[in-house]
Amino acid sequence: MAKDPAYNAIPMPLLAPRSFGPLPMPVATLGQGTWNMEGAREDSIAALRRGLDLGMTHIDTAELYGKGLVEELVGEAIAGRREQVFLVSKVQPSNASHKGTLEACERSLKRLRTDRIDVYLLHWPSAHPLEGTIRAFESLVKSGKIRAWGLSNFDVLDLEKAFRIAGPDRIACNQVLYHLKDRAIEHAVAPWCERHGIAVVAYSPFGHSDFPAPATPEGRALGTIASAKGATPRQVALAWLTRRPSTFAIPKASSVAHVEENARAAKLVLTPVEVAAIEKVFPVGAKRALPRL
Ligand code: NAP
Repeated sequence: MAKDPAYNAIPMPLLAPRSFGPLPMPVATLGQGTWNMEGAREDSIAALRRGLDLGMTHIDTAELYGKGLVEELVGEAIAGRREQVFLVSKVQPSNASHKGTLEACERSLKRLRTDRIDVYLLHWPSAHPLEGTIRAFESLVKSGKIRAWGLSNFDVLDLEKAFRIAGPDRIACNQVLYHLKDRAIEHAVAPWCERHGIAVVAYSPFGHSDFPAPATPEGRALGTIASAKGATPRQVALAWLTRRPSTFAIPKASSVAHVEENARAAKLVLTPVEVAAIEKVFPVGAKRALPRL
């Protein structure tokens, strides 16, 4: 295994940008999640701003988070630097009728203190007709309130339905659960997205609160690869998640130190041998449906 201690010392440039589905502009491979940030408001704002300094410009939020409090916090964090940010928010499924989507977007824009959202997502499949949600998304694109739209927690059947309604090059991304211990999307969802030019955004990239502990066999395996690379286990996890060019990750961190550690993962490239070693310890598992939220 090649040792690569240098990357942790490289001064921080903008983080490895790559094509984001059909969008014309490149997007940072590693972004920033915001779920549950309302409990540590000031630290989270400082962390988000530090992440922006380091090029983690993709900020993911949702009207659902803290019942709007997190969008407000994000609005404060990005005030004065909106141009730097690739801002993603989500309409919650209970609001995703045609009219409800238009109204939810207005509320989000106000809380985020901006006049546009870069990608507006349907948080998970809704009981409201998808045709109405997509029609609302398209009219928000026309009016400039959103630049593009996407989906979250969509399995292949849901994706096919959305694709039939919207046509090619309209769905920017599918934001889905993806981490070392949950590789279900690799069976069908991620390949489907790749075939259709749709970005895959890995949420809960550290397993939310279930990152492999150092004393477990999985944690030890990760630790061995990490120390050989002069990296940390979480950096290895992020590098592994984003090993394919279609995939992005949005770790949530409410401390500056955590954000700095996560940002450095963008410089880490795993060899095929290291990827194979990781996948032996964290097998893909059986094919199963995505969680229905
Ligand atoms: P996550 O990013 O997998 O993990 C977050 C946890 O990891 C926090 O406890 C955080 O602690 C900790 N952490 C982060 N960096 C660390 C570091 N370098 N060292 C040690 N600990 C570190 O969890 P997540 O919030 O579930 O997922 C990320 C984002 O994905 C969410 O915030 C949200 O934006 C999005 N998401 C979307 C959906 C959806 O349905 N579309 C669902 C879930 C999540 P601190 O906070 O103390 O730094």
